[in-house]
Amino acid sequence: MANSYVQKVVRKVKKSNPHQPEFLQAVEEVLYSLEPLFAKESKYQDNAILERIVEPERQLQFRVAWTDDKGRIQVNTGYRIQFNSAIGPFKGGIRFHPSVNSSILKFLGFEQIFKNSLTGLAIGGAKGGSDFDPKGKSDAEVMRFCQAFMTELTRHIGATIDVPAGDIGVGAREIGYMFGQFKRLTTSFEGVLTGKAIPWGGSLARTEATGFGNVYFAENMLGVRKETIEGKTCAISGSGNVAIYTVKKLQQLGAKPVTVSDSRGCIYQPSGINLEVLQQVKEVERASLTRYAELCKDAQYISVKDYPKNQHPVWNVGAQLAFPSATQNEVTEDDAKNLLAKGCILVSEGANMPSVPAATEAFLKAGIAYGPAKCANAGGVATSQLEMAQNASMQKWTFDEVDGKLKNIMAGIFKAAHDTAEEFGQPGNYVMGGNIAGFRKVADSMIAQGVM
Ligand code: NDP
Repeated sequence: MANSYVQKVVRKVKKSNPHQPEFLQAVEEVLYSLEPLFAKESKYQDNAILERIVEPERQLQFRVAWTDDKGRIQVNTGYRIQFNSAIGPFKGGIRFHPSVNSSILKFLGFEQIFKNSLTGLAIGGAKGGSDFDPKGKSDAEVMRFCQAFMTELTRHIGATIDVPAGDIGVGAREIGYMFGQFKRLTTSFEGVLTGKAIPWGGSLARTEATGFGNVYFAENMLGVRKETIEGKTCAISGSGNVAIYTVKKLQQLGAKPVTVSDSRGCIYQPSGINLEVLQQVKEVERASLTRYAELCKDAQYISVKDYPKNQHPVWNVGAQLAFPSATQNEVTEDDAKNLLAKGCILVSEGANMPSVPAATEAFLKAGIAYGPAKCANAGGVATSQLEMAQNASMQKWTFDEVDGKLKNIMAGIFKAAHDTAEEFGQPGNYVMGGNIAGFRKVADSMIAQGVM
């Protein structure tokens, strides 16, 4: 009976969302893990919660026309998926990357519902973005694109309606241009975006939050296994915001991160990643990792082209702890096998849905500490909510205050996932524990608010 409820909804989602593989992957992963809950409680089926929760409250798709430096007209597609506002205003990042499409943003928005719920804060789920590629564009082009994008988005967002943040390809520069345009169009200085720069409403520790939060989550997972971060060799993929601050926190706690990557290749540095050089190359020069290899003579650069297909060099260096921090489906089944064969005891996901389903299954089966994205990377959105709280109360908290709250929030998420996994008879399964804990709060709120 309970099984057939999930299967029925999954069939319906497949039928009404053809050609959206990432969205279907996320829906199946969440829904099947909720089955033990439906076996205990019928109210979710009685109230058609699954049928409603897989359907975004609102999806916006719009034209973004702008002129490049040569005066030519360029056109991109803009999106905002306002997925669920049962527990608070819509909240979720904006991604600028050529791969962006409706399927990817719907998977991200869907995941965001449960992640935001797990933080214990009052934030609903959303995601947005565009197929615009900021790489290789001048600052002036990025500004004109951001202004054009925000000209449409302004009508649909607000400090108590929908508060976007950054994601892949959207950092402090892009947030600045979008915030400026919102202010110009509305004449309102409000906390409508998070990830703002410190002088005009940003929060200390927001830049660090996703990476730091992921390491705090990993510490919690290791804690129940009587292990610590100190002295461990770590593999990190990506070299953007999440990866950089994962490296930083790991180093502060005495671990040794030995890899970072970008879309073309990876750095393997057995002596440990040089954070200063990494920040110079990625945050200042916005260059490729080949530049890092030029500056660090003991670093080895491995091009992904020179590596077997379906495997990534980052996951084959013999790391004890792994932190995927680049993009969705980056950890393949072969990567999972390589990690496990070489003694990995923990995978904690900084990126969203970085492990393919077979890799997730392999980690769970092996019984290693596995922190799924919606638990492990929730520190970013949680600190965004702390930025909203500071904006709304016109206060400014110190770095340590925000970092302390972040640490508590990550401990709270861990406890929710851990205790719920035990409650449902699968101790240590934080996929199931996190999904059920996040879902219950949203679903109960939807029931309380009536049919809509
Ligand atoms: P950035 O744009 O700062 O960095 C992204 C990194 O991932 C870059 O190194 C990039 O390499 C690499 N990357 C992107 N796409 C691909 C791809 N298709 N194949 C291989 N590598 C790729 O983004 P963030 O660090 O902010 O985001 C990284 C991940 O973390 C994403 O999954 C995001 O959704 C998630 N996340 C981010 C949060 C945040 O607060 N920023 C919060 C929660 C989750 P290159 O430069 O060559 O493209």
